[in-house]
Amino acid sequence: MFQLIIELHKNNHRQGPWSKESTTKAFDSIPINKWQNLKIADIGCGTGSQTIDLAQHTNYEIIAVDLFDEFLSELRKNAKDLGLESRIKTVKTSMDDLPFEKEYFDIVWSEWAIYNMGFEKGLQYRKNFLKPKWYIALSEISWITETRPKEIQEYRNVEYPEIDTIQNKIKTLEANGYKLISHFVLPYSDWLENYYEALENRFEKFLEKNASYGAEKIVEAERQEINLYKKYKEYYSYGFYIAQKI
Ligand code: SAH
Repeated sequence: MFQLIIELHKNNHRQGPWSKESTTKAFDSIPINKWQNLKIADIGCGTGSQTIDLAQHTNYEIIAVDLFDEFLSELRKNAKDLGLESRIKTVKTSMDDLPFEKEYFDIVWSEWAIYNMGFEKGLQYRKNFLKPKWYIALSEISWITETRPKEIQEYRNVEYPEIDTIQNKIKTLEANGYKLISHFVLPYSDWLENYYEALENRFEKFLEKNASYGAEKIVEAERQEINLYKKYKEYYSYGFYIAQKI
């Protein structure tokens, strides 16, 4: 099942809602000189097109981490094609078992990935690898209204029980030793045009190649997620949170 999910997602530009504008907007809100020689980690990088956006936007050395080599090899290939292989290193490991020295990184990046560890646990663990006073930038699914219809509340709670309002996400950040610098929510186009449309366009070929009950179930679940997003998109989004370790 895992292999099928990887196959469906690995040829997608990104593995979650995205835009280059959102990545650079988050990056540009970090109050630092961007052209210093610094170290950045991209945790749960997937095929890493945001890793490449970051590398092209800075002089950084970026260490990109993911659990699946299928994703990392795609990133290595793309980085090489762009001549960025000396500044992007990949490490295949779990995000809760990072092989780095404490306080090694200036910036820890993580788009649409911290949920794999849980938001609070993920914040606490990532903090170990950040230098004091340096920055974390991450996106996390968040309610953007105080109340919402039961159907989406129940669906999203089952998918990810830690889903919460933006204000509560900020409180969690602050309760775990970070100071919020800025935040914003991803626009509809990051979800619909950039992510879901690209994913939907792959369903037919994916099902042709993998005629199985498992593949059908995966597509059915993706379609359900997409339909619910279209119906309830004013109630939730990905919040991008940029914070400083204190
Ligand atoms: N950051 C990318 C990918 C997001 S999808 C983007 O924004 O497009 C979430 C990623 O987390 C996937 O690539 C998945 O393989 C990775 N992942 C899931 N569990 C993980 C774990 N325990 N350790 C490291 N990476 C993990």
